[in-house]
Amino acid sequence: MAISKKNNDDCDLARHRLARSGHRVTRQKQIVLEAVRSAPGHPDAHAVYTRARRLLPNISLGTVYRNLGLLRDAGLIRELQLGKSHRCFEAVREPHYHVVCRSCGRIEDLPIPRLNLISKAQRLTDFEIGEQHLEFYGLCPNCRTHP
Ligand SMILES: [Zn+2]
Ligand SMILES: [Zn+2]
Repeated sequence: MAISKKNNDDCDLARHRLARSGHRVTRQKQIVLEAVRSAPGHPDAHAVYTRARRLLPNISLGTVYRNLGLLRDAGLIRELQLGKSHRCFEAVREPHYHVVCRSCGRIEDLPIPRLNLISKAQRLTDFEIGEQHLEFYGLCPNCRTHP
């Protein structure tokens, strides 16, 4: 797998962030991060495990789970808990909305501009609000044609 300059910069950034949060950057952690980044869409832990094993054949599922948690806590990947499907992951990019299939759990990015409702929500309540979530649920094309 060719590693581009851009990828190398990303890896440096990842190393910095992990070091700042007090975590050693292990080879396993880099492989898990790379597996999340290179997976299409929003992989679950098993999909990450399958990809990670191509890069490091003896990595265990437990190691993958543990490193997914560490990478999430360090802010390098995002964990999505949408609908009834199991938890999925994605590399952190611009915050964006998701559409979720109620039937099969498929998740896709939704390319519409984000609304910032946090300051409004804050004005209307006594809460100090840190994040907002808005998801759209429906049936994907597959589930619509093969119910
Ligand atoms: Zn579906
Ligand atoms: Zn997404």
